[in-house]
Amino acid sequence: MGSTGTVPSEHGLADRLAAVSASVAEAAASAGRDASEITTIVVTKFHPASLVRELYALGVRDAGENRHQEARAKAAELDDLPDLRWHFVGQLQSNKARQSRRYAHSIHSLDRLSLVDALAAAPGDDDAQASIVDGFVQVALSESDTRGGVQPDAVEALVERVLAGDGIRLRGVMAVAPLGEDPHTAFARLRVISERVRAIDPGADRISAGMSGDFTAALKEGATHLRIGTAITGNRPATG
Ligand SMILES: *Cc1c(COP(=O)(O)O)cnc(C)c1O
Repeated sequence: MGSTGTVPSEHGLADRLAAVSASVAEAAASAGRDASEITTIVVTKFHPASLVRELYALGVRDAGENRHQEARAKAAELDDLPDLRWHFVGQLQSNKARQSRRYAHSIHSLDRLSLVDALAAAPGDDDAQASIVDGFVQVALSESDTRGGVQPDAVEALVERVLAGDGIRLRGVMAVAPLGEDPHTAFARLRVISERVRAIDPGADRISAGMSGDFTAALKEGATHLRIGTAITGNRPATG
């Protein structure tokens, strides 16, 4: 069999991580970006905590999860790794929101006013002791998108709500490229929305975009935080 340029799945975690890091560096360079300003979050959903520990040993400090129960359990199991940052990237129920502050460094999926309100630290609440969490406003890049995100015309209101509270440090915007659309055009729209957010809060200049299949396009359109799963972890274990 000839080489296809992709990393065969029998290669180990270290090889896949190195291959993705090299691709990210190359894509950043060709987009005229400095690789040191890009954070690669390894999305470890469905994989055991032991895999996150292996990634940590390989130098990874940013892990992403999309379910509260699973994230909480892994964070507890790995609490001996204090500089490991957990990024919550999935849809978050309002009644779980405050608990997520206990382990999450960043929440990438702020997609509605009620969630922002639920995350706000209530006086006298244990979770209010949690440190300030970094937040990204998740934007829906198509009207039919069911994967979460606020519609573009409601972004400003959500941003204002985050800024009015005191539990979330607004970092920027997040999106998932819609299925069936060229990710370049989708991420170009996200870049424009990011500019609108920066007009309100100049410090909220991060863009969380780009997954295993589209991070090159995301880097071209200004992504600062890539969320990469399978290209590094291999296929996710089957879930029942
Ligand atoms: C699973 C997931 C990713 C990673 O997807 P891959 O295609 O495995 O790289 C990124 N972002 C979100 C929101 C996810 O749920």
